Amino acid sequence: MTHSALAIRDVGMVFRRGEAAVEALASVDLDVADREFVALVGPSGCGKSTLLKLVTGLRRPTRGGISLYGKPVTGPRSDVGIVFQSPVLLPWRTVLDNVLLPADVLRLPRVEYRDRALALLDLVGLAGFASNYPYELSGGMQQRAAIARALVHDAPLLLMDEPFGALDAMTREQMNLELQRIWAASRKTVLFITHSIPEAVFLADRIVVMSPRPGRILEVIENAIPRERSLDDTLTPEFGELVRRVRLLLGGQGVAL
Ligand code: ADP
Ligand code: MG
Repeated sequence: MTHSALAIRDVGMVFRRGEAAVEALASVDLDVADREFVALVGPSGCGKSTLLKLVTGLRRPTRGGISLYGKPVTGPRSDVGIVFQSPVLLPWRTVLDNVLLPADVLRLPRVEYRDRALALLDLVGLAGFASNYPYELSGGMQQRAAIARALVHDAPLLLMDEPFGALDAMTREQMNLELQRIWAASRKTVLFITHSIPEAVFLADRIVVMSPRPGRILEVIENAIPRERSLDDTLTPEFGELVRRVRLLLGGQGVAL
């Protein structure tokens, strides 16, 4: 392992509204190495999205601290790219202009980033769709555009919150293959939240299994299945064993996914 890209230290989060308090995260410790792909699985409401938001700096934890590339996270920063479950493309912007949005927001030079955006559209399999509008794209294509957008400002860390949750099973498998390819080509560090255990096993170097709320890490499972992985790998005993281990951990907590 090279140096740590992301360091989460004893992070806790309590949401307060008047008298009411919700403890979303108990105490989370996690290191993600540079260029590592880490998947986070856990029951609904266990604080996965909260943890991701804390990493982006959009919110501060009520306990503990987070560092990115050795620097404490104290507020929103430009060295992360984020992909959500819904692609949230702006309908009045072309695909290219949607991909360029972070560059516009960060006031980066458009001329330079236009070429980069076009190369990324190529990378995600959308060459030729630069001047189309979002409504002209399928759900899977829109999500690819959202991935290109998250990569455009060349942030080293990619945070993905159930990015393929809204896609049908076949498109989702295709997107898993695509993401593996994009990750290998773009050499990013990825923290990937999913509800799908097979998706986590297919994509990740390590699978982090969380407890029900208040979320804490139950176990971190190493995935030694060699890359590049193919859909045939999902049919091997090794793959099945990893899926089973994650399922048992979640099942042991009385969780139905
Ligand atoms: P997950 O992504 O694992 O499904 P979340 O991180 O979205 O879970 O939520 C964890 C818990 O924190 C839930 O009980 C949720 O209701 C609560 N929560 C999340 N965001 C807020 C907020 N802004 N204010 C109050 N409670 C919140
Ligand atoms: Mg969530």
